[in-house]
Formats: sequence, structure tokens, C-alpha cells
Amino acid sequence: MGATLEIRNLHVTVEDQPILRGVNLTINQGEVHALMGPNGSGKSTLANVLLGNPAYEVTDGEIYFDGKDLLEMEVDERSRAGLFLAFQYPVSIPGVTLANFLRQAINARMKANDPESKGIPIPEFRRLMIEKMNMLKMDPSFAGRYLNEGFSGGEKKRAEILQMAVLNPRIAILDETDSGLDIDALRVVADGVNSLKGPDLGVLVITHYQRILNYIQPDTVHVMFEGQIVESGGPDLALALEEKGYDWIREKHAIAE
Ligand code: ADP
Ligand code: MG
Repeated sequence: MGATLEIRNLHVTVEDQPILRGVNLTINQGEVHALMGPNGSGKSTLANVLLGNPAYEVTDGEIYFDGKDLLEMEVDERSRAGLFLAFQYPVSIPGVTLANFLRQAINARMKANDPESKGIPIPEFRRLMIEKMNMLKMDPSFAGRYLNEGFSGGEKKRAEILQMAVLNPRIAILDETDSGLDIDALRVVADGVNSLKGPDLGVLVITHYQRILNYIQPDTVHVMFEGQIVESGGPDLALALEEKGYDWIREKHAIAE
């Protein structure tokens, strides 16, 4: 049995303002879900709650990951349990290469599981990196670059996807910022998700761009408006969003502009 991320009747306030108003969403390992919706609908709020950002207060509802109460888990515990949350605003770390950063991330996880662990041997790490970079069609020289320093939007996404490939999560949440994400960056995310997806990986791609659905084929598409998921569906819903945008959903649910 694979892991499940189960969000039940989630209510969240930010600075005493209710933002999420009863979100229900279940993601199983092996499934690709897209969460769409206009700016300000609450998509990143959901990602922040999953990430454990203390500015977001859960006032009702539950989140379970692999049967455990996620809201009771520390952030690093969430990661060790197999939940991957992409950094929405990746920091740059001058002097630390991407390869070093990834090796430290693996070692930190190994040490958390076993305090005696010496971390991953360098030859093994190198093999792992090469395997993942080949799979993602990335140039090996990329691993030698300083993390996020001078990275383009697409390169930041590439670093994020490589991190996901190396950490091998059970469920990954990718929140695509609504600003500054060009079509190349979108394609990097889409190609990455498409090449990594399989029975052991569940993905939630959060975006307000309908056009990402040209590149990712999600099993399920959800549309959020005003802190609630108002529509869920399969490829048909993806097509309808591509063709008609969000207005018909607004009309259908009598949501004010
Ligand atoms: P989306 O990602 O769908 O564009 P967000 O979750 O970022 O939407 O925002 C939903 C609402 O919550 C917006 O009205 C936004 O202003 C508010 N909000 C989100 N995060 C914060 C925050 N850290 N401080 C204040 N308001 C916030
Ligand atoms: Mg957002």
C-alpha cells in the first residue's frame, strides 16, 4: 500500500483572515494532481500549511500523511516521512554547489534516521547524481554551479526538480509562483514531473497557468476559488480550462468577479 496525503475540511486563517474554508483533497502515491485557480484563491496558502509555515493557522480540519497527523509533525519529520515541498522562493547560497547541497541534504536525512551514519559515500552519490541527471536530461556541469546563484527561472526549477529526483519522495508538492515563471521554467517542471512519475510518486502541481496542462497530463485536476475546491475532474476538466479559462466556473458557482 502506498502513502496517502489526506486533507479533510481544512480551514486556515492568515492574520485572523479566513483564507481556506473547508478544503478536501486526497493524493495517493502514483497519482498526479494539478491544483489550479485564479490568483488569491488560496493555493499557496495550502502549500504553506503543508510546509508547516507558522504564519498560517489551522482553525479546523485535519491533514494525514501515511496515516499520521501531519500537523503534529516537525518540518524535517515531514520530509523524512517522504513529503517533498519545493521551495517557492529558493535561496541562493554562494560557494555551495548544487551537488554539495544535495549531498548534504541526503546526509542530513541519513543521520536523522541513524545517528551513526557517515552519510552517502562520494562515489555512490556521484552515481546517483549522474543517473538522475541523465533521466532528467540535464547537463552534468549543472551540478557544479553554485546553488541558485545567477540561475534563470528555468534553472531554479531544474535545481528543484533534481532535488526532488535525488530525495525520492513519496508525495511531492510543487507550488509554481504566479510571477516570473516563463514558459521554459514551466516546461522544466512539466518534463521533470513526467519523467519522474510512476507508481511510487504522488505529485500535486499547484499553478494558476492553464497552459501547464499542455505539458503535464494530470490524473486529476482541481480548481480552487475563494479557499475551496469547487471543481475536480479528469482530462476533460483540463481541456475545458484550456479552452475557456476560469469564467465558466465562476458563472457555474455564482462566484463574484
Ligand atoms: P494563490 O496562491 O492562489 O494566489 P494565496 O494563498 O497566495 O493565493 O493567497 C490567498 C489569500 O491569502 C490572498 O488574499 C492573500 O493576500 C492572503 N495571504 C496569503 N498569504 C498571506 C500572508 N502571509 N500574509 C497576509 N495575507 C496572506
Ligand atoms: Mg500562489
